[in-house]
Amino acid sequence: MSQKRILITGAAGFLGSHLCDRFIKEGMHVIAMDNLITGDLKNIEHLFKLEHFEFYHHDVSKFIHVPGHLDYILHFASPASPIDYLKIPIQTLKVSSLGTHNVLGLARVKKARVLVASTSEVYGDPHVHPQTEEYWGNVNPVGPRGCYDEAKRFMEAITMAYHEVHHVETRIIRIFNTYGPRMRLNDGRVLPAFIGQALRGEDLTMFGDGSQTRSFCYVADLVDGIYRLLMSDYHLPVNIGNPSEITIKEFGEEILKLTGANQKLISLPLPKDDPKQRRPDISKAKEILGWEPKVSRAEGLKITFDYFKSLSKDDLNKVEHRKFA
Ligand code: UDP
Repeated sequence: MSQKRILITGAAGFLGSHLCDRFIKEGMHVIAMDNLITGDLKNIEHLFKLEHFEFYHHDVSKFIHVPGHLDYILHFASPASPIDYLKIPIQTLKVSSLGTHNVLGLARVKKARVLVASTSEVYGDPHVHPQTEEYWGNVNPVGPRGCYDEAKRFMEAITMAYHEVHHVETRIIRIFNTYGPRMRLNDGRVLPAFIGQALRGEDLTMFGDGSQTRSFCYVADLVDGIYRLLMSDYHLPVNIGNPSEITIKEFGEEILKLTGANQKLISLPLPKDDPKQRRPDISKAKEILGWEPKVSRAEGLKITFDYFKSLSKDDLNKVEHRKFA
């Protein structure tokens, strides 16, 4: 049997790089693609020596050419944190619209199965809790998250259209908050923000009163869900995330305890359109993929903290502060 070949877009990012590792482990030939706007080659440099790994420095919003056959495509290119998409809203819109169109066109000519990375952001600030795949969402198209949320909603729509019209084998994952090693310390998201602050001896910046909730999934669990969905025959969206829900205040307290820091939580204004609660209903993933998360928050946070602790002082001090809309 010939070796399977997979293209991974956004391969130098947090999730993309973990996917490269996983598919190399599965014995596939991995073609990694990234324009390095938010990705970092450090995340995949350990793979460059491998015979079955290649890297293309390319922006998928432009025509994509990959020589040879492809069995699978994973479309994970996109800025994915509020700090990034506030800074580069047009690239954010383009990568999930034009970029997805290019990826689907490539999948069509290569007869490859394609999985696109959608997000819990398609639910916006949800009126249904926990969120099931049937919920249509509550998104503000002209708010600060609009460029990300609407682009991802378009991504889902065009993916369905390619499935219906061109019979491309498509898979759609809706990813909830995920964390783990290789997250960017300065991407503005709550976990790297809190751990970075704890390590620098600063107070932890809690937005609002911290009563908003999130549900955090460890990256290895997410990658396993992605693998199972790709190998399944299910083409409608599937939520993958950890249903263990926590308020941001409790989360900050957990980080302070874990790091042994003796700083405190301070309250800053809540950014506009910040979802008040978020927890995936994962019944579908359980039923269709036999998937559920295995790594507890305590275990996952410990591994992630050890990773951030191992970074250099320079990396630790590269901080960007979030703008308040
Ligand atoms: N948050 C916070 N302090 C920070 C960064 C984020 O309290 O320094 C809050 C943010 O307002 C949100 C939650 O943590 O309610 C998760 O934010 P994140 O940016 O990680 O992800 P998202 O809002 O997209 O789920």
